[in-house]
Amino acid sequence: MTGHRCCDVGRAVMFSVKQVLDAAGSRLAAFADEPYADVRALAGHVLQRHRAWLIAHSDDEFPVDILDEFWHLIDGRVQGRPVAHLTGYREFWGVRLKVTPATLIPRPETEHLVEQTLLLDLPEESSILDFGTGSGAIAIALACERPAWNIHAMDISGAALQVAVENAALARVPNILFRCSDSLAAYGFHGFDAIISNPPYVAEGDPHLLCGDVRFDPANALMSGEDGLNCIRYLITDAPKFLKPNGWLLMEHGHDQSRSVRVLLEQAGYGDIRTALDLAGNDRVIWARCPDSG
Ligand code: GLN
Repeated sequence: MTGHRCCDVGRAVMFSVKQVLDAAGSRLAAFADEPYADVRALAGHVLQRHRAWLIAHSDDEFPVDILDEFWHLIDGRVQGRPVAHLTGYREFWGVRLKVTPATLIPRPETEHLVEQTLLLDLPEESSILDFGTGSGAIAIALACERPAWNIHAMDISGAALQVAVENAALARVPNILFRCSDSLAAYGFHGFDAIISNPPYVAEGDPHLLCGDVRFDPANALMSGEDGLNCIRYLITDAPKFLKPNGWLLMEHGHDQSRSVRVLLEQAGYGDIRTALDLAGNDRVIWARCPDSG
């Protein structure tokens, strides 16, 4: 905190919330893309306050007994650890989700997948599958919005599923059935109205894997073959067998995969193919009606 104003009260040195946040922001500046947003998230976490409180109370004393904990988190961030791992949670679709290294950290772009699913004209009591649920983000967001849907959520990772089950309990959504599997065949009996997935879609060896939070995500939630499209190809091929006639397949994909995924869907006979952009303006979500072959 050298160089920052402080005031002496007896022997204790006090710092205001603003002083601590500014100092932490300067410390993080060389290590994080959004240092001040990270600092606010970490300070909000240790102080158990919202962002607005931090602004409104910027001249309050930063409680001295939690300064160590706060700087410990900042050190973790300097070492590259994701904010979501440091706090243990991430907000997704307004729901606070527990996140551990066993699960992909939910990203804002995946909210577009939820948004588009809700915009489809699906029946009141739809049967829905979240393929590769991870922390449960998509399934839980949909369950909150559509309590009458029967939602199934599967993942290859038992450790991720444990977190997802816990998250569903915390969000108090009873309408999700979880299953550990890597294959749609586990649902042999089923005719889903929609299958939704944020599958692994990063190409093996993609340099992007060496940067930022993805370094801490589970590899099997990120990578999918040489071109990143193995899982997407699998879903496009097999989903029709598990969808009702005219059922929907909705997937997130990489920022440069839109054309390839569209071609794969067309070749497989899907109709009504649509895409949506993420906040950065990249095609990020694609959805289509399955061919009759189901
Ligand atoms: N969105 C992640 C990224 O930053 C990838 C997630 C995924 O593969 N589903 O690349």
